[in-house]
Amino acid sequence: MLTCDDYLSPKTLDEAFDAMERHRGGSRLVAGATDILPWAREGRAGDVHIPVLIDIAGIPELNVREIGADKVRLGAATRFQRFIDDKALMAALPALPFCAVWFADDQIRESATIGGNLVNASPAADGTPAVLVHDGAVVLASRRAGKIERRRVTVADFMQGPGKSVLGDGEILIEVECAALPKHGGAFEKVGHRRSLVISTVCVAALVERDAAGERLSDVRLAVGGVGPVPRRMDKIEAALKSRRLSNDLLEEAAGTAADLVASRTRQEYRREVVQGFVLRALVNASRRAGACEKLITREIEARYA
Ligand SMILES: Cc1cc2nc3c(=O)[nH]c(=O)nc-3n(C[C@H](O)[C@H](O)[C@H](O)COP(=O)(O)OP(=O)(O)OC[C@H]3O[C@@H](n4cnc5c(N)ncnc54)[C@H](O)[C@@H]3O)c2cc1C
Repeated sequence: MLTCDDYLSPKTLDEAFDAMERHRGGSRLVAGATDILPWAREGRAGDVHIPVLIDIAGIPELNVREIGADKVRLGAATRFQRFIDDKALMAALPALPFCAVWFADDQIRESATIGGNLVNASPAADGTPAVLVHDGAVVLASRRAGKIERRRVTVADFMQGPGKSVLGDGEILIEVECAALPKHGGAFEKVGHRRSLVISTVCVAALVERDAAGERLSDVRLAVGGVGPVPRRMDKIEAALKSRRLSNDLLEEAAGTAADLVASRTRQEYRREVVQGFVLRALVNASRRAGACEKLITREIEARYA
């Protein structure tokens, strides 16, 4: 069980940094608490006492939502439920709603934040591949000599390994920036027998844009989680998919190549099979949602990932 003596809810970034400085060594940040609470239980960290918990979810900078023509700025305390409820956000970030519907259950989605998901740095975190296909970057804030400083790091560079990121001591992830891609079709696939409460073994996010005729993919973005130490984009496969006319064969070849990227040591054969099926299904769904020519991706392909 997780216990604390004090639970603070700073209203500004300065108040949060004050609390972090005052309780250095005896405090921990918390946003939705959906990672930190289950971590402090039998079989994981066990009973944990943290003298001071600092809940940063109410700070205005962490609740920004700004949708521009090219870029979306999202506060780190944005809850996953928002990607299903907020129509403008869904349109600008077409991979995120498909990620969010597979994310936990209603109760967890209402609390779990995108910032907490990234900081937790799980190799199979659902939010990471979905943000990677949107060219995600994070803004990290710290305070030095009374002045708040910000630095921007791409999500690809932010993730360093299982549970490891470049977040420094005394830093707060305040914002996530994503490319706004309203013309793209999105998809997200993850392993799980039940829709809710399944934390991914493998997950795949896809975004595609078609050309005017719907016969080629003018842009393809694919990211996979759970097959290596950090979720990653599949750049070579993205390039190969743009180089030829759309067909069932093209998508199947891409999915086959994706299976070769599996680096995890555990359950390798299983993960290879899952990745191949997921990449195929994600590409088919995203292409159809983007309006790809129906004659080029025929119904027979569905039998390959059923
Ligand atoms: C039942 C259940 C189901 C789940 N299902 C899924 C799932 O389907 N997919 C999935 O990916 N995850 C899942 N999770 C994991 C969890 O919900 C997510 O990782 C969530 O996004 C974490 O966000 P949070 O705000 O709750 O993090 P918290 O628990 O509040 O924090 C997590 C860690 O990040 C730090 N932190 C949080 N915010 C910041 C910030 N802004 N700056 C700096 N540090 C910060 C905290 O100090 C802590 O170390 C599930 C968890 C549970 C309990």
